[in-house]
Amino acid sequence: MIVPMLEILEHAKKGGYGVLAPNVFNEDSVRACLETAVEMDSPIIIDVLESNTKDLVTFGKIIRILAEEVRVPVAINLDHGQNDAACMKAINGGFTGIMCDRSFLAFEENAHEVRKFKELCAPLGITVEAEFGEIAEGEEYITKREEYLTDPDKAAEFVELSGCDCLAVSIGEAHGEYVTEPDIDFERLEKIKTAVDVPLVFHGGSFSGFDNIKRVCEIGCQKVNMGTDAYNYGLQLLMEDPRYSAGENIGARIGGDVMWAGYKERTIDYVRACGSAGKNWLKIVD
Ligand SMILES: [Zn+2]
Repeated sequence: MIVPMLEILEHAKKGGYGVLAPNVFNEDSVRACLETAVEMDSPIIIDVLESNTKDLVTFGKIIRILAEEVRVPVAINLDHGQNDAACMKAINGGFTGIMCDRSFLAFEENAHEVRKFKELCAPLGITVEAEFGEIAEGEEYITKREEYLTDPDKAAEFVELSGCDCLAVSIGEAHGEYVTEPDIDFERLEKIKTAVDVPLVFHGGSFSGFDNIKRVCEIGCQKVNMGTDAYNYGLQLLMEDPRYSAGENIGARIGGDVMWAGYKERTIDYVRACGSAGKNWLKIVD
């Protein structure tokens, strides 16, 4: 069932857990996420990157149809909307959250751009996620980690100026694969948490370590983004399928099934780490 992203985040904040936001790019990946949510009896946030789909508007509508078939809370969020056109397409496609990511701009400009979308989205019940600080890509982790960290002393001012509903923070995480062990700054997260009241978002969940994810969710991250680990694991299972090494051509359909089963298995691991299993408030109980 489709709900505003903020509704999921507010439940999570009250309950002291995180909700997984897996990255998707086709119907199979969306179905895998929804099956995960149903089996884990958990809310879920479907995250879509503009570059991962040819048509954000139609894809959003497809996800809505699929999500309305399950009785768990589902939000659809634009991941890293870095330009106005992408944000507008997501709004048009029925997304219930958009990330207006202007973290590459200076403090005031970033806040100003987010504010613009907040004013547009608030009457539509669409949640606006902002990013303050920047999240490094795995390959630049060593050179950029320090520089990108969120300044806890400016976080409250940013939230106030931008009006964002939730805030992605840079606390030592990275997108994709880390080139070295992840070094998560829990103390910084505690400080940001004390300074601001909006739910916080942890990007780059892949390979960040289940214990670290569990801890950031307990401290105050209500949304955990993850894509690469699940994609890689699905591909790994496909490449290791014994039928291939035996020279059998299993065909695209069955190959896809193997891959998306792996993707789903890994999303289940992350949902568990976030602590949202059994937190489906739409469950019918007698
Ligand atoms: Zn991200």
